Amino acid sequence: MTTRSRVIAVVNQKGGVGKTTTAVNLAACLAASERATLLVDLDPQGNASSAFGVTDPERQIYDALIGDCVMKETVHPTALSHLHLVPAGPDLVGAEIELVSAMSRERRLSAALADLRESYEVVVVDCPPSLGLLTLNALTAADTILIPMQCEYYALEGLARLMDTVNLVQQHLNPDLALQGIVLTMVDMRNNLSRQVEAEVRSHFGQKVYRTRIPRNVRLSEAPSHGKPIILYDIHSRGAIAYLRLADEVLAGLGLETPRHPPQLAQMLDEGSRATSAAIGSPADGAEGESR
Ligand code: ADP
Ligand code: MG
Repeated sequence: MTTRSRVIAVVNQKGGVGKTTTAVNLAACLAASERATLLVDLDPQGNASSAFGVTDPERQIYDALIGDCVMKETVHPTALSHLHLVPAGPDLVGAEIELVSAMSRERRLSAALADLRESYEVVVVDCPPSLGLLTLNALTAADTILIPMQCEYYALEGLARLMDTVNLVQQHLNPDLALQGIVLTMVDMRNNLSRQVEAEVRSHFGQKVYRTRIPRNVRLSEAPSHGKPIILYDIHSRGAIAYLRLADEVLAGLGLETPRHPPQLAQMLDEGSRATSAAIGSPADGAEGESR
């Protein structure tokens, strides 16, 4: 393959906003669209790794960042043939400290990824919930950032702080860093505040906010404990349909051709997104009755 991959950092300094769920399921959906995809777990908690059933890996991102091995040696296969994973483990906490005095400490990930960029069309990096050295490495290596956001009271302040950091990175480390998009996660539009926050985010960021909203869906929270992304755990769930839609929007944003879904899947997506809009978009709807 001669393409050079596009590196997307999934970033938000707040924990629990859906970064890992988005990184894992977006990567899986891109792979399902037959895009050669690499998911890099850059969080010492290793949630993106365990979401694929990878725990306590022999080689992990830490080894590549500190120069003990090359990135290629840390790559694991997954149940999806077009998706590979670079896992993380608790050792990675040490990297934040060990790298502080190292040369080009912010460019370690960028350098480590260099020899893999010919092998994948898209690299998705799952960031830890902070703006520390690991996240700086992701922002320096990335072409674009994708921000999962929960429509809560302080979400806009958090977003402003993140964009300040992005500006600094653009000035000092990575002038070409751009915003891929903002995705609203765990959406429940029966909540008035959510609707207000969504309106504000859309008025500030316009087209950069994806049309697809990820609904709060229990199937999405169950899938990791089965070591599977949502499309392998429950393809018919509202969560699966939302992430397939998001992947289409992301591919379009990258200028990559959107896959032509087989008719059955296309029909399911249409029906599913109508049902999802009805369920999350209307204040008249009752509680999320069924788990899908
Ligand atoms: P982060 O990586 O930003 O800390 P996670 O993706 O780990 O956030 O999500 C935090 C928690 O919320 C996890 O338990 C996850 O399973 C759950 N979760 C994430 N997105 C959804 C969703 N759309 N619906 C239901 N639960 C979700
Ligand atoms: Mg996470």
